[in-house]
Amino acid sequence: MASTDYYELLGVPRTATDAELKKAYRKLARQLHPDANPDDPSAEERFREVALAYEVLSDPERRSQYDRFGADGVDMSGLGDLFGGGLGDLFDAFLGGNPFGGGAGGQRARRGPPPGEDLEAVLDLGFEQAVFGAETEVTVKTAIACDVCQATGAAEGTAPQECPDCGGSGQVRRVRQSILGQMVSAAACGRCQGHGQYLPVPCSNCGGEGRVIENETYTVEIPAGVDTGSTLRLTGRGAVGPRGGGTGDLYVHVRVADHQRFERENNDLVHELHIGFTQAALGTHLSFETLDGVEDLVVPPGTQTGREFRLRERGVPSVQGRGRGDLLIRVFVDVPTKLSDEEAEVLRSYAEMRGEEVAPPDSGFLSKIKSAFR
Ligand SMILES: [Zn+2]
Ligand SMILES: [Zn+2]
Repeated sequence: MASTDYYELLGVPRTATDAELKKAYRKLARQLHPDANPDDPSAEERFREVALAYEVLSDPERRSQYDRFGADGVDMSGLGDLFGGGLGDLFDAFLGGNPFGGGAGGQRARRGPPPGEDLEAVLDLGFEQAVFGAETEVTVKTAIACDVCQATGAAEGTAPQECPDCGGSGQVRRVRQSILGQMVSAAACGRCQGHGQYLPVPCSNCGGEGRVIENETYTVEIPAGVDTGSTLRLTGRGAVGPRGGGTGDLYVHVRVADHQRFERENNDLVHELHIGFTQAALGTHLSFETLDGVEDLVVPPGTQTGREFRLRERGVPSVQGRGRGDLLIRVFVDVPTKLSDEEAEVLRSYAEMRGEEVAPPDSGFLSKIKSAFR
Protein backbone atom coordinates (compact mmCIF):
# COMPACT_ATOMS: atom_id res chain seq x y z
CA MET A 1 0.00 0.00 0.00
CA ALA A 2 2.86 2.35 0.77
CA SER A 3 3.82 2.67 -2.87
CA THR A 4 0.37 3.66 -4.08
CA ASP A 5 -0.50 7.30 -4.39
CA TYR A 6 -3.56 8.04 -2.27
CA TYR A 7 -4.71 10.90 -4.47
CA GLU A 8 -4.50 8.66 -7.53
CA LEU A 9 -6.41 5.92 -5.75
CA LEU A 10 -9.26 8.33 -5.12
CA GLY A 11 -8.90 9.92 -8.54
CA VAL A 12 -8.64 13.46 -7.20
CA PRO A 13 -6.01 16.21 -7.66
CA ARG A 14 -3.65 17.00 -4.80
CA THR A 15 -5.56 20.22 -4.26
CA ALA A 16 -8.90 18.45 -3.72
CA THR A 17 -11.15 19.93 -1.04
CA ASP A 18 -12.67 17.83 1.74
CA ALA A 19 -15.98 17.82 -0.10
CA GLU A 20 -14.34 16.59 -3.31
CA LEU A 21 -12.54 13.84 -1.42
CA LYS A 22 -15.75 12.69 0.19
CA LYS A 23 -17.62 12.72 -3.09
CA ALA A 24 -14.88 10.70 -4.84
CA TYR A 25 -14.76 8.23 -1.97
CA ARG A 26 -18.53 7.74 -1.89
CA LYS A 27 -18.60 7.01 -5.60
CA LEU A 28 -15.76 4.46 -5.34
CA ALA A 29 -17.20 2.83 -2.25
CA ARG A 30 -20.45 2.13 -4.12
CA GLN A 31 -18.61 0.84 -7.18
CA LEU A 32 -16.38 -1.47 -5.15
CA HIS A 33 -19.01 -2.77 -2.76
CA PRO A 34 -18.71 -6.58 -2.52
CA ASP A 35 -22.44 -6.93 -3.24
CA ALA A 36 -21.92 -5.14 -6.53
CA ASN A 37 -18.87 -7.28 -7.39
CA PRO A 38 -19.68 -10.86 -6.42
CA ASP A 39 -17.30 -12.28 -9.06
CA ASP A 40 -14.40 -9.94 -8.41
CA PRO A 41 -12.47 -10.65 -5.24
CA SER A 42 -9.99 -7.88 -6.06
CA ALA A 43 -12.75 -5.31 -5.54
CA GLU A 44 -12.62 -5.86 -1.81
CA GLU A 45 -8.87 -5.35 -1.71
CA ARG A 46 -9.22 -2.20 -3.77
CA PHE A 47 -11.89 -0.95 -1.44
CA ARG A 48 -9.59 -1.42 1.54
CA GLU A 49 -6.93 0.68 -0.20
CA VAL A 50 -9.42 3.36 -1.14
CA ALA A 51 -10.81 3.44 2.38
CA LEU A 52 -7.35 3.80 3.86
CA ALA A 53 -6.53 6.58 1.39
CA TYR A 54 -9.72 8.39 2.33
CA GLU A 55 -9.13 7.93 6.03
CA VAL A 56 -5.68 9.48 5.71
CA LEU A 57 -6.59 12.36 3.39
CA SER A 58 -9.76 13.33 5.22
CA ASP A 59 -7.80 13.99 8.40
CA PRO A 60 -5.99 17.33 8.02
CA GLU A 61 -3.07 16.31 10.20
CA ARG A 62 -2.55 12.99 8.43
CA ARG A 63 -2.99 14.62 5.06
CA SER A 64 -0.21 17.09 5.71
CA GLN A 65 2.02 14.27 6.99
CA TYR A 66 1.25 12.36 3.81
CA ASP A 67 1.94 15.36 1.59
CA ARG A 68 5.32 15.90 3.21
CA PHE A 69 6.57 12.42 3.97
CA GLY A 70 4.42 10.00 1.99
CA ALA A 71 2.50 7.09 3.43
CA ASP A 72 5.32 6.11 5.74
CA GLY A 73 5.16 9.44 7.50
CA VAL A 74 1.48 9.14 8.36
CA ASP A 75 0.26 8.45 11.86
CA MET A 76 -1.57 5.18 11.24
CA SER A 77 -2.63 4.61 14.83
CA GLY A 78 -6.31 3.90 15.01
CA LEU A 79 -6.48 2.92 11.36
CA GLY A 80 -6.00 -0.75 12.23
CA ASP A 81 -9.18 -0.54 14.31
CA LEU A 82 -10.96 0.69 11.24
CA PHE A 83 -10.50 -2.64 9.50
CA GLY A 84 -10.70 -4.78 12.58
CA GLY A 85 -14.46 -4.63 12.67
CA GLY A 86 -14.91 -6.19 9.26
CA LEU A 87 -15.66 -4.67 5.96
CA GLY A 88 -19.41 -5.00 6.27
CA ASP A 89 -19.51 -2.74 9.31
CA LEU A 90 -17.39 -0.23 7.53
CA PHE A 91 -19.68 -0.11 4.52
CA ASP A 92 -22.71 0.16 6.71
CA ALA A 93 -21.23 2.95 8.73
CA PHE A 94 -20.17 4.81 5.67
CA LEU A 95 -23.16 4.33 3.44
CA GLY A 96 -25.37 5.11 6.39
CA GLY A 97 -23.89 8.57 6.27
CA ASN A 98 -21.71 8.27 9.33
CA PRO A 99 -18.22 7.81 7.99
CA PHE A 100 -15.93 6.65 10.77
CA GLY A 101 -17.95 8.19 13.54
CA GLY A 102 -16.50 11.64 13.43
CA GLY A 103 -12.86 11.05 12.66
CA ALA A 104 -10.03 9.00 14.00
CA GLY A 105 -9.02 11.61 16.53
CA GLY A 106 -11.79 10.60 18.87
CA GLN A 107 -10.96 6.91 18.71
CA ARG A 108 -7.47 7.01 20.06
CA ALA A 109 -8.15 6.62 23.73
CA ARG A 110 -7.52 2.93 24.21
CA ARG A 111 -7.75 0.45 26.98
CA GLY A 112 -5.96 -2.82 27.12
CA PRO A 113 -2.40 -3.72 26.31
CA PRO A 114 0.23 -0.99 26.50
CA PRO A 115 1.60 0.42 23.25
CA GLY A 116 5.02 -0.60 21.92
CA GLU A 117 8.26 1.27 22.40
CA ASP A 118 9.50 4.18 20.34
CA LEU A 119 12.60 3.28 18.36
CA GLU A 120 15.53 5.26 17.07
CA ALA A 121 17.70 4.75 14.02
CA VAL A 122 20.54 6.60 12.37
CA LEU A 123 20.27 7.15 8.65
CA ASP A 124 23.31 8.06 6.54
CA LEU A 125 22.53 10.22 3.54
CA GLY A 126 24.56 11.50 0.64
CA PHE A 127 24.98 15.26 0.47
CA GLU A 128 22.69 15.69 -2.52
CA GLN A 129 20.06 13.32 -1.12
CA ALA A 130 19.81 15.63 1.87
CA VAL A 131 19.68 18.76 -0.27
CA PHE A 132 17.10 17.56 -2.77
CA GLY A 133 15.24 14.94 -0.75
CA ALA A 134 15.16 11.23 -1.48
CA GLU A 135 13.30 8.04 -0.97
CA THR A 136 15.42 5.61 0.94
CA GLU A 137 15.17 2.70 3.31
CA VAL A 138 15.95 2.26 6.94
CA THR A 139 16.27 -1.09 8.69
CA VAL A 140 15.58 -1.36 12.40
CA LYS A 141 15.44 -4.15 14.90
CA THR A 142 11.89 -3.98 16.12
CA ALA A 143 9.04 -5.95 17.57
CA ILE A 144 6.38 -7.13 15.16
CA ALA A 145 3.16 -8.97 15.82
CA CYS A 146 3.61 -12.72 16.22
CA ASP A 147 1.91 -14.33 13.26
CA VAL A 148 1.65 -17.74 14.90
CA CYS A 149 -0.82 -16.49 17.50
CA GLN A 150 -1.98 -13.35 15.66
CA ALA A 151 -0.55 -11.26 18.48
CA THR A 152 -2.84 -12.76 21.08
CA GLY A 153 -0.02 -14.57 22.87
CA ALA A 154 -2.20 -17.67 23.17
CA ALA A 155 -1.11 -21.08 21.87
CA GLU A 156 -2.96 -22.52 18.90
CA GLY A 157 -6.37 -23.82 19.85
CA THR A 158 -6.46 -21.79 23.05
CA ALA A 159 -7.65 -18.27 23.63
CA PRO A 160 -6.90 -15.60 26.18
CA GLN A 161 -9.33 -15.73 29.06
CA GLU A 162 -10.85 -12.84 30.89
CA CYS A 163 -8.92 -12.30 34.06
CA PRO A 164 -11.07 -13.32 37.02
CA ASP A 165 -9.25 -11.03 39.45
CA CYS A 166 -10.09 -7.78 37.67
CA GLY A 167 -13.01 -8.90 35.53
CA GLY A 168 -11.11 -7.93 32.37
CA SER A 169 -10.60 -4.29 33.26
CA GLY A 170 -6.89 -4.74 33.96
CA GLN A 171 -7.25 -2.66 37.10
CA VAL A 172 -8.09 -3.50 40.66
CA ARG A 173 -9.53 -1.12 43.21
CA ARG A 174 -7.77 -0.94 46.51
CA VAL A 175 -9.63 0.34 49.49
CA ARG A 176 -7.72 1.30 52.57
CA GLN A 177 -8.44 3.12 55.77
CA SER A 178 -6.53 6.26 56.55
CA ILE A 179 -6.94 9.00 59.06
CA LEU A 180 -8.86 10.90 56.39
CA GLY A 181 -11.30 8.05 55.99
CA GLN A 182 -11.64 5.44 53.28
CA MET A 183 -9.22 5.89 50.33
CA VAL A 184 -9.88 4.15 47.03
CA SER A 185 -7.13 3.79 44.48
CA ALA A 186 -6.81 1.88 41.23
CA ALA A 187 -3.74 -0.23 40.46
CA ALA A 188 -2.71 -2.55 37.66
CA CYS A 189 -3.99 -6.04 38.25
CA GLY A 190 -1.19 -8.31 39.45
CA ARG A 191 -2.53 -11.47 37.87
CA CYS A 192 -2.81 -10.19 34.29
CA GLN A 193 -0.30 -7.26 34.49
CA GLY A 194 -3.02 -4.90 33.40
CA HIS A 195 -3.89 -6.78 30.22
CA GLY A 196 -7.33 -7.71 31.47
CA GLN A 197 -6.77 -11.21 30.14
CA TYR A 198 -4.50 -14.10 30.98
CA LEU A 199 -3.18 -16.94 28.88
CA PRO A 200 -3.93 -20.50 29.90
CA VAL A 201 -1.28 -21.74 27.39
CA PRO A 202 1.20 -19.19 26.02
CA CYS A 203 2.18 -19.26 22.34
CA SER A 204 5.50 -21.09 21.97
CA ASN A 205 6.73 -18.79 19.19
CA CYS A 206 6.56 -15.58 21.22
CA GLY A 207 6.34 -16.94 24.76
CA GLY A 208 2.98 -15.23 25.21
CA GLU A 209 4.26 -11.76 24.37
CA GLY A 210 2.23 -11.64 21.16
CA ARG A 211 5.23 -10.13 19.40
CA VAL A 212 8.65 -11.17 18.18
CA ILE A 213 11.90 -9.32 17.48
CA GLU A 214 12.79 -8.93 13.81
CA ASN A 215 14.69 -6.65 11.47
CA GLU A 216 12.21 -4.60 9.51
CA THR A 217 12.94 -2.32 6.57
CA TYR A 218 10.84 0.77 6.02
CA THR A 219 10.79 3.19 3.14
CA VAL A 220 11.51 6.73 4.25
CA GLU A 221 10.66 9.84 2.27
CA ILE A 222 13.42 12.30 3.05
CA PRO A 223 12.17 15.86 2.60
CA ALA A 224 14.52 18.21 0.77
CA GLY A 225 16.71 20.30 3.07
CA VAL A 226 17.39 17.95 5.97
CA ASP A 227 20.79 18.15 7.62
CA THR A 228 22.87 16.25 10.12
CA GLY A 229 20.90 16.50 13.35
CA SER A 230 17.50 16.47 11.64
CA THR A 231 15.14 13.88 13.07
CA LEU A 232 12.20 12.44 11.18
CA ARG A 233 9.38 10.91 13.13
CA LEU A 234 7.65 7.97 11.47
CA THR A 235 4.51 7.59 13.45
CA GLY A 236 3.43 4.03 14.02
CA ARG A 237 6.74 2.57 12.77
CA GLY A 238 8.07 1.77 16.21
CA ALA A 239 7.76 -1.52 18.03
CA VAL A 240 4.35 -3.12 18.30
CA GLY A 241 3.15 -3.45 21.87
CA PRO A 242 2.71 -6.79 23.62
CA ARG A 243 -0.43 -8.74 22.73
CA GLY A 244 -1.79 -6.43 20.11
CA GLY A 245 -0.88 -3.16 21.81
CA GLY A 246 -0.46 -0.14 19.54
CA THR A 247 2.82 0.65 17.85
CA GLY A 248 5.34 3.22 19.02
CA ASP A 249 7.03 5.68 16.72
CA LEU A 250 10.33 5.47 14.88
CA TYR A 251 12.68 8.42 15.17
CA VAL A 252 15.18 8.56 12.33
CA HIS A 253 18.24 10.69 13.02
CA VAL A 254 19.84 11.95 9.85
CA ARG A 255 23.59 12.08 9.25
CA VAL A 256 24.74 13.73 6.04
CA ALA A 257 28.02 13.00 4.24
CA ASP A 258 30.39 15.86 3.43
CA HIS A 259 30.71 17.25 -0.07
CA GLN A 260 34.05 17.74 -1.77
CA ARG A 261 33.29 21.22 -3.03
CA PHE A 262 30.56 22.63 -0.80
CA GLU A 263 30.10 23.31 2.87
CA ARG A 264 26.70 23.96 4.36
CA GLU A 265 26.02 27.03 6.45
CA ASN A 266 22.38 26.55 7.40
CA ASN A 267 20.62 26.68 4.04
CA ASP A 268 23.47 28.37 2.21
CA LEU A 269 26.17 26.47 0.41
CA VAL A 270 29.71 27.83 0.52
CA HIS A 271 32.46 27.13 -1.98
CA GLU A 272 36.06 28.31 -1.69
CA LEU A 273 37.14 29.42 -5.13
CA HIS A 274 40.88 29.55 -5.74
CA ILE A 275 42.02 31.74 -8.64
CA GLY A 276 45.44 32.80 -9.86
CA PHE A 277 46.58 36.32 -9.11
CA THR A 278 46.60 37.26 -12.79
CA GLN A 279 42.96 36.11 -13.01
CA ALA A 280 42.18 38.21 -9.97
CA ALA A 281 43.94 41.26 -11.42
CA LEU A 282 42.63 41.00 -14.97
CA GLY A 283 39.29 39.30 -14.30
CA THR A 284 38.06 36.03 -15.80
CA HIS A 285 34.97 34.15 -16.88
CA LEU A 286 34.54 30.72 -15.34
CA SER A 287 32.13 27.84 -15.79
CA PHE A 288 31.00 27.11 -12.27
CA GLU A 289 29.36 23.81 -11.41
CA THR A 290 26.48 24.27 -8.96
CA LEU A 291 24.33 21.40 -7.67
CA ASP A 292 21.81 22.42 -10.34
CA GLY A 293 24.20 22.53 -13.27
CA VAL A 294 26.85 24.74 -14.77
CA GLU A 295 26.57 28.52 -14.52
CA ASP A 296 28.72 31.34 -15.84
CA LEU A 297 30.67 33.15 -13.18
CA VAL A 298 32.18 36.53 -14.01
CA VAL A 299 35.15 37.44 -11.82
CA PRO A 300 35.72 41.15 -12.43
CA PRO A 301 39.23 42.70 -12.71
CA GLY A 302 40.70 43.65 -9.35
CA THR A 303 39.00 40.90 -7.35
CA GLN A 304 40.50 40.45 -3.89
CA THR A 305 40.72 37.46 -1.57
CA GLY A 306 37.62 37.40 0.61
CA ARG A 307 35.29 38.67 -2.08
CA GLU A 308 32.03 36.76 -2.11
CA PHE A 309 29.77 36.04 -5.05
CA ARG A 310 26.21 35.05 -4.26
CA LEU A 311 24.19 32.85 -6.60
CA ARG A 312 20.64 33.30 -5.34
CA GLU A 313 18.54 30.21 -4.66
CA ARG A 314 21.29 27.78 -5.60
CA GLY A 315 21.61 26.60 -2.01
CA VAL A 316 19.59 24.20 0.08
CA PRO A 317 15.77 24.23 0.06
CA SER A 318 14.25 25.06 3.41
CA VAL A 319 13.02 21.87 5.02
CA GLN A 320 9.81 23.69 5.93
CA GLY A 321 9.27 24.30 2.22
CA ARG A 322 9.90 28.05 2.38
CA GLY A 323 12.32 29.02 -0.34
CA ARG A 324 15.91 28.08 -0.87
CA GLY A 325 19.25 29.27 0.42
CA ASP A 326 22.00 30.82 -1.71
CA LEU A 327 25.30 29.57 -3.02
CA LEU A 328 28.20 31.70 -1.76
CA ILE A 329 31.46 31.62 -3.66
CA ARG A 330 34.35 32.94 -1.57
CA VAL A 331 37.43 33.97 -3.49
CA PHE A 332 40.99 33.07 -2.51
CA VAL A 333 43.71 34.58 -4.66
CA ASP A 334 46.61 32.16 -4.95
CA VAL A 335 50.13 33.47 -5.22
CA PRO A 336 52.32 31.08 -7.22
CA THR A 337 54.92 29.31 -5.14
CA LYS A 338 57.11 28.14 -8.00
CA LEU A 339 58.12 30.36 -10.88
CA SER A 340 60.23 29.49 -13.89
CA ASP A 341 63.08 31.86 -14.65
CA GLU A 342 61.10 33.23 -17.51
CA GLU A 343 58.04 33.89 -15.34
CA ALA A 344 60.21 35.48 -12.67
CA GLU A 345 61.74 37.73 -15.28
CA VAL A 346 58.33 38.92 -16.46
CA LEU A 347 57.30 39.62 -12.88
CA ARG A 348 60.51 41.52 -12.20
CA SER A 349 59.90 43.85 -15.10
CA TYR A 350 56.31 44.22 -13.94
CA ALA A 351 57.53 45.15 -10.44
CA GLU A 352 59.96 47.63 -11.95
CA MET A 353 57.14 49.28 -13.91
CA ARG A 354 55.14 49.67 -10.70
CA GLY A 355 58.15 50.89 -8.73
CA GLU A 356 57.80 47.97 -6.32
CA GLU A 357 60.99 46.81 -4.68
CA VAL A 358 61.49 43.02 -4.82
CA ALA A 359 64.20 40.68 -3.53
CA PRO A 360 67.17 40.19 -5.90
CA PRO A 361 67.34 36.98 -7.96
CA ASP A 362 68.32 33.93 -5.93
CA SER A 363 72.10 33.50 -6.46
CA GLY A 364 72.35 30.24 -4.57
CA PHE A 365 73.98 27.04 -5.77
CA LEU A 366 70.83 25.44 -7.20
CA SER A 367 69.96 28.46 -9.29
CA LYS A 368 73.46 28.56 -10.74
CA ILE A 369 73.22 24.94 -11.78
CA LYS A 370 69.79 25.54 -13.27
CA SER A 371 70.97 28.48 -15.36
CA ALA A 372 74.09 26.63 -16.45
CA PHE A 373 72.11 23.77 -17.92
CA ARG A 374 69.28 25.70 -19.50
ZN1 LIG B 1 2.79 -15.88 19.44
ZN1 LIG C 1 -6.49 -8.99 35.88
